[in-house]
Amino acid sequence: MRVLLVGSGGREHALAAALHRSPLLASLFIAPGNPGTASLGRNVAIAADDVPALVAFAQAERIDLVVPGPEAPLVAGLADACAAAGIACAGPTQAAARLEGSKSFTKEICDEAGIPTARWECFTDAASAHAFVRRRGAPIVVKADGLAAGKGVVVARDLAEAEAAIADMMEHAAPGEAGASLVIEECLEGDEVSLFAFCDGTEAVLIGAAQDHKRIGEGDTGANTGGMGAISPPPGFGAEAQERALDLLVRPALAVLARRGTPFRGVIFAGLMLTAQGPKLIEYNVRFGDPEAQALLLRLQSDLLAALVAMCEGRLADAGLRFSDEAAVAVVLAGRGYPGKPAAGGAIAGIEAAEAIAGVRVFQAATALDAAGVLRGAGGRVLSVCATAASLADARDAAYAGIARIEWPDGVWRRDIGVRALALS
Ligand code: ATP
Repeated sequence: MRVLLVGSGGREHALAAALHRSPLLASLFIAPGNPGTASLGRNVAIAADDVPALVAFAQAERIDLVVPGPEAPLVAGLADACAAAGIACAGPTQAAARLEGSKSFTKEICDEAGIPTARWECFTDAASAHAFVRRRGAPIVVKADGLAAGKGVVVARDLAEAEAAIADMMEHAAPGEAGASLVIEECLEGDEVSLFAFCDGTEAVLIGAAQDHKRIGEGDTGANTGGMGAISPPPGFGAEAQERALDLLVRPALAVLARRGTPFRGVIFAGLMLTAQGPKLIEYNVRFGDPEAQALLLRLQSDLLAALVAMCEGRLADAGLRFSDEAAVAVVLAGRGYPGKPAAGGAIAGIEAAEAIAGVRVFQAATALDAAGVLRGAGGRVLSVCATAASLADARDAAYAGIARIEWPDGVWRRDIGVRALALS
């Protein structure tokens, strides 16, 4: 098969590595890809959100399957445009991708499906939003309805913070269009975990669960980032709990979407809070997380491409998906200064030496090759060193042993990925 993978991060490097192992693969193209994906297929210079150019390329190259990594092309209608061109796409239509693109849409689906989630209200005028938070009090969560690249959510600990968030989002339009309507919801307390599944419109097959580490600093301090590391599985949230959460929080939403005539096909990523009353849904994303995908895909033992084809054809139950029950860890190395302006340009060595350690894989994100063929850091999140092993402690040791072999003076990383989980398990 001829496959076009869309994206350029560590998630896409991990997807490319899994696709590359498939006996069904004839040619792999990655748009735009990175130096890591270039060793597994052919990178093509098309931006990940340029839907018309992606579809034109797919037609010209007789692509059999498009595999989207990030959400932007899905929310922009990549799957619909592929369908119109007669090309299969392993991601949801624009209508189903509203699960990620609109928080009020997700809440409506939860209510219709009876899915436990924070109590909520939606507002399109600031005066009613202010009145609501004054009535409800803090803590309370204020969210821009649309996509805001992680900047559209404020967990307000007091009323002043909630009112400031409403003013920023609605009156000063800080997250742009996304803040024209707000979802204001109850603040949930508990541990957060992410659940991943392949969905074919009716069936959902569990991929696994992970816990990310969003803050730049050790001990979960400092600024929010795209994610500095992930572990799988989270402590106290094993396979049985994951299956129960899939039944409670994902399958009913798939049934509602199918009934509405907009079935969901693709990877669903449910963000959950493990509250004292049981798991509750925080959000859905319509694709793999990054870096979670890198940890989760290392556990995949069966053919990813065959599974994606089965997913597109609505026969996921026959796909024979198999994952090892190993623990997995991903540790992100970022350019010094991230998530502000990162140092760029420093030479990187030692990837092969790191990968010589059993169970260790290195995935690239913002890297670039210079004219002399030297690999250099070229942005925020640059590499992830990932490992699988029989236990979380062993996977952690292997990942950090891998990092010790990477030579990159500009790199910063957290030394405590998985430490809290180890203490709890
Ligand atoms: P954006 O749309 O800006 O990209 P997002 O999709 O990441 O944001 P959410 O996942 O809904 O937004 O929220 C971001 C974070 O805020 C969550 O990971 C969680 O830590 C916190 N959060 C969201 N909703 C709640 C809630 N009801 N109670 C407590 N914490 C919450």
